[in-house]
Amino acid sequence: MEVKFLGGAREVGRSAIVVSYKDTRVLLDYGVMLNDHPEFPGHVEPRKIDAVLLTHAHLDHSGSIPMLYISGRKPRLYATRMTKDTADILLSDFIKLSGYYLPFGHEEMREALNRCTEIYYREPFTVKDLEIEFIDAGHIPGSAQILVKGDKTIAYTGDFTTIRSKMLDGADTSLGDVDALIIESTYALEEHPERTELERSFVEACKEVVENGGNVLVPAFSVGRAQEVLCILHAYGFKQPVWLDGMARKTLEKYLEDNRFIDNYHLLKKASKRIRIVTGKRGRRAALSEPGVIITPAGMLKGGPALFYANKIIEDPSSAIFLVSFQLPGTPGAQLLEERKLQVNGEEKTAKCRVEQFRFSGHAGKRQLHEYIRNLETARRIFAIHGEEQACQELATWTERETGAEATAPTPQQAFTI
Ligand SMILES: [Zn+2]
Ligand SMILES: [Zn+2]
Repeated sequence: MEVKFLGGAREVGRSAIVVSYKDTRVLLDYGVMLNDHPEFPGHVEPRKIDAVLLTHAHLDHSGSIPMLYISGRKPRLYATRMTKDTADILLSDFIKLSGYYLPFGHEEMREALNRCTEIYYREPFTVKDLEIEFIDAGHIPGSAQILVKGDKTIAYTGDFTTIRSKMLDGADTSLGDVDALIIESTYALEEHPERTELERSFVEACKEVVENGGNVLVPAFSVGRAQEVLCILHAYGFKQPVWLDGMARKTLEKYLEDNRFIDNYHLLKKASKRIRIVTGKRGRRAALSEPGVIITPAGMLKGGPALFYANKIIEDPSSAIFLVSFQLPGTPGAQLLEERKLQVNGEEKTAKCRVEQFRFSGHAGKRQLHEYIRNLETARRIFAIHGEEQACQELATWTERETGAEATAPTPQQAFTI
């Protein structure tokens, strides 16, 4: 079997891997790098691909898929139902915002999703000479790890975590005998804070602000994190108003439609009954008119309703902006954290409100990555991808030292025979 890395090698973004065996070729993810201009993975000819297997909806895994559906023979797409539904939301928005830079539009996206076969975890299927199985990745609802079996078995983690969150139980790690493992390395250099402690301190901080009459803005990714924050607030007995705005609303609807993908479905259901959905401009003013928590994208304040709220809240010393994820350097969220400054409508504002970061994560931290690799003791070949160069290299070095397996941090376009 051959594995070729087209993107996501020594970088986070544009994940894309081709696996070939006999006459069969499958593409694992085909994402985009979201810099000022979108950047794409290495080229593949759609007619030479038998199937596209999508781990999850995030654009760094799905954002280039419509490019394979422009003309000619179009491959079948395989994804869980939740991944298909949430990819629809994210891709539509991506095309709306970045359409000018993209060689495809809504039509190609529709074409891709129309060719999607919905599959579920632990239900193997075949693509010509290969047997494929999706396994729960615990990263966001619908996310999967993928097993590809030819004469060898290759496991690809996609984005995963074994840490239990309020909504999800974490990745299924019973992968059986695997010859090669392709693993994400996002947090290979970093330990996550203890989860329960982090959840508790986040809710405490929200209560403090709201009880003193302030508003808390929680900029959050619309797919996954926003709904997780709802669950956390509910689980720790937060009784004051919680508002949900932007694309996070549509995602919540999708999550509530299919309980197979939310491990703690009852909590999400209960939490969702208590929230207030923001509609229109009047709704936004209403959300700001009384103390409460407002959860809305974009998670790094790059746009979306979060900017509208931030513009008001930033001036109010009794209010707060609580960032709930890693902030990519160069984003407005990172600037707000580092310099307490934010650009809104071309004007630079200095924060008078409280600004804090709570580093929730849907990715395995250093310890979880190591445990995962140790657990897969049959894998003698390991590829560390989806991380900064140093993180990928460090995970590969650790693996060789601790397990004796052959480990590599591949570079783009590099191919390997398993
Ligand atoms: Zn992801
Ligand atoms: Zn990713």
